[in-house]
Amino acid sequence: MRTPLIAGNWKMNKTLDEALAFARYLGEHAPKNGVETLICAPAPLLYSLADALAGTRVALGAQNMHHEAQGAFTGEISAAMIKDTGATYVILGHSERRQLFGETDASVNRKTICALKEGLTPILCCGESLEEREADRTTEVIKAQVISGLHGIAEADVTKVVIAYEPIWAIGTGKTASSADANEVCAAIRGIISDLYSDKAAESLRILYGGSVNTDTVKGLMAEADIDGALVGGASLAAESFHSLTTF
Ligand code: PEP
Repeated sequence: MRTPLIAGNWKMNKTLDEALAFARYLGEHAPKNGVETLICAPAPLLYSLADALAGTRVALGAQNMHHEAQGAFTGEISAAMIKDTGATYVILGHSERRQLFGETDASVNRKTICALKEGLTPILCCGESLEEREADRTTEVIKAQVISGLHGIAEADVTKVVIAYEPIWAIGTGKTASSADANEVCAAIRGIISDLYSDKAAESLRILYGGSVNTDTVKGLMAEADIDGALVGGASLAAESFHSLTTF
């Protein structure tokens, strides 16, 4: 049985006061039993949020990291630094990182390996552009991203990875994939894992959908067989909205 995961991606939003108010709300409003919940916050908020969320059932994650353990990489943070804060997850290869900051499949792969080595759970993002979808290239694009992202990762580790299928055309646009379309791609990803590793690995690895998920669409998405959760941007910013996503 795969535990459902509802993950919020705050992106570059929230001051410390706003983050703490959010954490207080989640302390008073628990998620549905059996649902794992996660907030991926900007790095400067992680230490304080880890304290504020202690005792709640909400885990904490970062939104990016460097693939080296340390060194002359001004402005970057390492996996060990993230772990020190109390965070246990890290989003890797988000399409905004790929499009705006030049991340490649190869760099995302190095980060994924490094996160696993440090004991963090990577959320490995993949997704096609509108152009690629319209050219019927979705499966091909996703397959290439998943194969490269997991290159060199052994079966014992791959089930610790969470994959997030996030079609680029659905992120922050209000256009969500239908539950059936999202499930079709998530099922294809499970097939790729089965071919690369085994049926057993494919059955235990969690696959999230992301792209304008909101309180109206989450229930339908979560009812699909191959969707194990959601990675949510905009609708994770208000505490009430995030909480209602976690009680789908
Ligand atoms: C995201 O940032 O990963 C995301 C899916 O954003 P939104 O929910 O706003 O589309």
